[in-house]
Formats: sequence, C-alpha cells, structure tokens
Amino acid sequence: MNASSNNAISQEPFDDFNLMNISTSILFPGSNAYEEAIFIGNLLYRFKTPSIVVQAVTEEDVAVTVKFAKEHGLNLTVKSGGHSYAGYCLNHGGIVLDISSMNKVSIDHENMTVSIQGGAVWRDAYSLLKEKDLRLMMIGGQCPTVGVSAFLLGAGLSPFSRRYGLGIDNLLEMTIITANGEKVTVTHDDIDPAKRDLFWAIRGGGGGNFGVTVSVKTKLHNLRDPNGTVVCGELYLGSPKARGRFQSNDECLEYDYLAGRSMCGRYLADLAPLFDFNPDNGLKAMHWTDWEVIDASFDVFSQVYYHHGSFIFAEGGITPKVAAIITQLMEEAKMLVPDSSSNSASECHILWDHIGGATTKLKPEDTAFPWRDGVYVATVRAQWVDPSLHKRMFEFVDRAKELLLPYSIQGKAAYINYIDSTVENWQEAYYADPRLQHVKSHWDPTNFFQFEQSIEPVGHKRTHHRKPGWKPWEKFTPPTPQQLGNPKTKHHVYATNAHIRRSMLSHKE
Ligand SMILES: Cc1cc2nc3c(=O)[nH]c(=O)nc-3n(C[C@H](O)[C@H](O)[C@H](O)COP(=O)(O)OP(=O)(O)OC[C@H]3O[C@@H](n4cnc5c(N)ncnc54)[C@H](O)[C@@H]3O)c2cc1C
Repeated sequence: MNASSNNAISQEPFDDFNLMNISTSILFPGSNAYEEAIFIGNLLYRFKTPSIVVQAVTEEDVAVTVKFAKEHGLNLTVKSGGHSYAGYCLNHGGIVLDISSMNKVSIDHENMTVSIQGGAVWRDAYSLLKEKDLRLMMIGGQCPTVGVSAFLLGAGLSPFSRRYGLGIDNLLEMTIITANGEKVTVTHDDIDPAKRDLFWAIRGGGGGNFGVTVSVKTKLHNLRDPNGTVVCGELYLGSPKARGRFQSNDECLEYDYLAGRSMCGRYLADLAPLFDFNPDNGLKAMHWTDWEVIDASFDVFSQVYYHHGSFIFAEGGITPKVAAIITQLMEEAKMLVPDSSSNSASECHILWDHIGGATTKLKPEDTAFPWRDGVYVATVRAQWVDPSLHKRMFEFVDRAKELLLPYSIQGKAAYINYIDSTVENWQEAYYADPRLQHVKSHWDPTNFFQFEQSIEPVGHKRTHHRKPGWKPWEKFTPPTPQQLGNPKTKHHVYATNAHIRRSMLSHKE
C-alpha cells in the first residue's frame, strides 16, 4: 500500500489500516493526489474534507475498507464519477472510497450484454462499444464522465429511454459489497427473497444507500442504422419577450431532444406554447455516442457554484398554466444574473429530459423508481460565480420549486439522480415506497451507508436534522474567486485547492 501524507488531520485512527495487506493507495489532506481524488466541480461542496481517501483497485480492497470503517465507526462514502449534484460522494472526517480505477468493461456480443466494473464512467463503456460495433447501444447517460453505477442506482434516464426504458429496466445483475463487507450478486430471478428485494431496491433506490456496487451487467441493443447514426441535439428556447436567439447562455430554457424513433409528435404538441419562443434548432445526424453533454462546471477548471431543483411531470402535465409559470421564471432568471464580465459563467436554465413510452411499461411497484407515470423530468439549474449571489440563486430555485412542484406528480416527485440538498421531504420525494426502508433494515441495519438524504432503516430517526433556513453555503464556507485565482494547469488547480483546504482547516483548529 502507498500512503501519501502531509496532513492537517490526525492519521492516528488509520494506522491499523496502513498495516493491512491490500493493494490500495491511501491519501491524506495536503497532497495534490488527495485533491485530485476528491475533486468535484461544485464549489459549494468541494471543500468537504474526508480524513482519508482509499483508492480501491480490487473488490477485496473495497470489502476490507468497508469492514475497517464499520469497525472503527467511521463514515464512508463512495466516489465514482464525482457528479453528485450535492457532493454526496464526499464527507467530513470519514473515508472516501475512490473506486474510479475499477473501470473495466467487457462485451458479450453473442448474448448482447455488457459487464462493467463499479467505478467506470460512461466514456469507458461507450468507447469499447464503438470500437466493437458502431450499432451497439446501451442505456446510459449523455455526460461521458458520469459514473455508471450511480446513474443506474438512481434509475438512469437516457435519450433512448422512450424506446428501451430506463437504465434499470435494462439491468440484469448487480454485484455489491454490503455493509458487512460481503460480496453479493443480485438478479431479478434470485430464489432468496432478500436478494430479490435488494435487486428491487437498487433499481431506483439511489447511490450510497445499500452498499458499494462493484459490477453491473446490462443489456445491449442494436440501432437500426448500420453506422449507429441518430438525429440528436438540443433546442434552445428564449424568452418570448426577447423573441429570438439568446444574447448569451445566461438565460435559457434548454430542451433535450432526440429525433428518430424515440420521438413522437405528441412531445412537440405538449410543448407547443414554448415553441412560441422561437427555438434555436441544434439537431444533427451523428453517431449516438458523439452527442455528449460536456458540462464545463464539472471539469477540473470549474470555478462555479451551482444548485438545482427537479420535478417529474406526468402526461398532460405541461399545461398552458405551467408553460406560463416557466415563462415567468425565465424572465426572473434574466434579472438575476447581472450583465458583467465577472459573471460570464453565471446562468439559470430549465432542462427537460423526455421519458414516457417504454419507461411506463413497468408499474411503480416493480422497481424502486416510483414515478413511472412521469413523462418529463425537468431540472431548474442556477449557476453563478460571484459568492454574493448565493442567497439570490438559492431563493430563485426555491421559488421555482414553490411554483412548479404542485404540478409535479403527487405534488412531490423529484428525480434522485438530480439530488437537491435542500429538499426537506426527501424520503417522500425520492424514496416514495416504504419497502425501501425494510430492505435497508435487512441489508444495513446499523445504517452504515448514510449521507444527508439517505434511506434509513425502519425505526431509525433522521440522522441529520436541519435548522429552518439551513443553507449549504453557510455550512461549507466556499472559497472566493480571489482565493481560487486563475490556475492554468490541473496541477495548479489541485495545489490551490490544497492550499485553501489547509487554511480552512487551520482556521477551524
Ligand atoms: C453533467 C451531468 C449529466 C448527467 N446526465 C444524466 C442523464 O443523462 N441521466 C441521468 O439519469 N442522470 C444524469 N446525471 C445525474 C447522474 O446520473 C447522477 O448525478 C449520478 O449520481 C452521478 O454518479 P457519479 O458516479 O458520477 O457521481 P458520484 O458523486 O461519484 O456518486 C453519486 C452518488 O452515488 C454514490 N455512489 C457512487 N458510486 C457508487 C457505487 N459504486 N456504489 C454505491 N454508491 C455509489 C456516491 O456515494 C454518491 O452518493 C447527470 C449528471 C451530470 C452532472
């Protein structure tokens, strides 16, 4: 084992861990390697400071780390792609288990399945599919650096979902290291009812709740076109008052759109009021893996804060009244982002993911994704650079939720993969089926796998109570643009982050 340290946090509890005969590296605060391993884009949560990072290479490393953390009463969170909207792959003072090196992918062309290790991101899987056969397609995310496991654990919306269902509808098998450090493989047809229940729960129950996913097996599909070409792109819809193109990216309603066989006329008809906005049509023919959402706010040079709220609308949910609310919100968003160069990365938008079709084939109780009558998943996103905007941006997302949530399914449906740290009724919004708590009680009775909005075993009280008016930026003291400077290389970014973290830790002492 390699240990890298220059830490401001005591290593004492981890001495025993150092002696264990496993293949991991362990990293302590103070080093660039530590900063690289725990890097996340969102400045609101970037400076959560785990005591150590364990970089697992094998399933055995994962099992040993889980057992160690449990025995020593340490919090452990898993990090794969690091794209959790609320930074839930990190923690304060515990262990971050970085499994990003466990990223092997293998294709069984004959049986049209793909097996993927738990730390892989979509890029790892897509590049192999493309290399083998241009027609091969799987239900994954559009962002190449999103983690496969957590995408699937949270249900998984894909541009192909109307045709082939959610990611979880294509999942055949998942292997998990449980809270006891045991390896368990679960499938739909398990004879053991507890394992069948776990397979039910991991299909929509969300990342970080039941164990560490170390591998998945899922279905492949063949696209009709021999070159795997589809028509895809985005429609950008501006304010009706602006009538035309946006002056910048600052205010837009961003609307994901996949033409071809997953499209249907009704989709356009439902949103007819919005087409009044004169959309900028970005549709193009391309190989399906070439349509990537490259979100700069998740890359290593990101210097933005962002916050989201999500809603799930049923068929007919985008009524003229809802369209009018959205128009109003777009107007408000325009006022929010001052027109100054220092705020050029600031924006507010509403993103639409279109589901329905095949995703409605299963019943709400068939998997742990309860919102099967959902047709549109909408995300309100606020992104900003200037820390003085924290309050206003959070208030804008709160206001959007206040106005739109009544039209979301059951007045509460939200999408767990777009997790929002400020949702107070997360048990209902994300984990609507109480069966999840029973499965949690069986597989993790001591609530070892936990974060601020995790599933709790039956009878457990909420472990995280928030005071009214709780706001994330007050909790994590995010850095200012002056502290961040203008780093030009990755190395410089990590060194700057290490410096900021050291100064934050020394202020706490
Ligand atoms: C730019 C962007 C595009 C996106 N596009 C889509 C999309 O098209 N469709 C969609 O459905 N979602 C999408 N998402 C949401 C994404 O699926 C979720 O944010 C997902 O949780 C990210 O997983 P991760 O491994 O990258 O993140 P992480 O932050 O590493 O993990 C997210 C959560 O899952 C836990 N976790 C991670 N790995 C494991 C594991 N192996 N076992 C158990 N728990 C684990 C973490 O502890 C954390 O709680 C997108 C997100 C972003 C930022």
